[in-house]
Amino acid sequence: MDNITVKFGGSSLADAAQFRKVADIIKADSARKYVVASAPGKRRSADTKVTDMLYAMYGRAEIGEDFNAILDQIEQRYMSIIDELELDFDLEPEIEAIRYRMASSPERDYAASRGEYLNAKILAMYLGFAFLDPAECILFDRSGKLLSEETNERLAAKLVDNPYTVIPGFYGADGDGNIVTFSRGGSDITGSLVARATKAEIYENWTDVSGILTADPRIAADAKVIEYISYRELRELSYMGASVLHEDAVFPAKKAGIPINIRNTNAPADKGTMIVSSVAEGTRGHVTGLAGKKGFSSVRLEKTMMNNEIGFGEKLLAIFRRHDIPFEHMPTGIDSICVIVNTDRLHSCRSEVLLEIEQQLSPDSLTIEDDLALIAVVGQGMSRTKGIAARIFSALASAGINIRMIDQGSGEMNIIVGIDSSRYEEAVRALSTALF
Ligand code: ASP
Repeated sequence: MDNITVKFGGSSLADAAQFRKVADIIKADSARKYVVASAPGKRRSADTKVTDMLYAMYGRAEIGEDFNAILDQIEQRYMSIIDELELDFDLEPEIEAIRYRMASSPERDYAASRGEYLNAKILAMYLGFAFLDPAECILFDRSGKLLSEETNERLAAKLVDNPYTVIPGFYGADGDGNIVTFSRGGSDITGSLVARATKAEIYENWTDVSGILTADPRIAADAKVIEYISYRELRELSYMGASVLHEDAVFPAKKAGIPINIRNTNAPADKGTMIVSSVAEGTRGHVTGLAGKKGFSSVRLEKTMMNNEIGFGEKLLAIFRRHDIPFEHMPTGIDSICVIVNTDRLHSCRSEVLLEIEQQLSPDSLTIEDDLALIAVVGQGMSRTKGIAARIFSALASAGINIRMIDQGSGEMNIIVGIDSSRYEEAVRALSTALF
């Protein structure tokens, strides 16, 4: 292997001891040419991420309150890294530049971006690598949308002939030079963009877990590391709540066919999870993982001869659209239809939605059931394999859990079950034991 992009998350760069581990990993393989850095994360569970401190600082600056105490704490976080690593890094002018901007024209994204900016600068010095500010090459339009092709060209122009460079994650700039950040966790996207632009053979995403697990380990203690997963499977799991990688980080790497390897900075010998375009048949079981979420409601209509009424579904969905409520699933029967939506989204307009359905569609019955949890069982080979649905349903039946809804995703690689929220954890445990 000759060209690898590596990204280190906040916990991997939270203090000097973590910086040392990161440097060991990078120096262990000269192919690790491009390094994307997050801001310092939590050193222990009760700690605060530097990004959160920066948002808090901005919150005060924005309303003209004194933000200096928070900035001093941020300075201390970086100073302890610099001192312990015995670096000759002049932090003072950097902190004063932030103080000046916060006092004169505070901007939220600028403030948040300083976490990765400073961490990447310090890391570059520690490694003896060059530093590239993404404000010069990760480009957004004025509405905050990433300009992916322009970004790809600019990044390639800056990086291809300059290996051994550190790039701060999480931000870029718009055409006026204003800093724009991705959503939280967005350094993963930066890593993917850099991997694509430099035609990396692999994008290593280093974090604090040894890969993506078959189920949420906080609930299912027997969850196992997934060795191989496809981009599409990962997207299904991420959508349903599995959160190892930022959802949007998959796209640039996928476009360029670059595998993403999730690795553990604290256990570098672990192989982690490999995210690839497709997983060859026979290399693993047919069920890859499961993930779920609570907090859904099911709006259910019954109407005799509904199936003959052309446009019925369209009229129903238009009501949800007018209230800006996206729907998750829509299981239908001959005389009934169910729309599954997020309960919070329905909250503010519940009675209007019901009234409009009554008035426009005159159903024979209309009910809303809340406290629904959805669990998606995901696996590329699932739809062609006998017996998986049976295993899912019998695991839930043996645990005495009633299934309120079943939906086989149209992508044919997931089965979604809706159950009572109060049984969610039990259901995840039962499925994890039965399937993996
Ligand atoms: N530091 C940012 C955050 O906490 C971005 C990142 O770490 O990816 O969300």
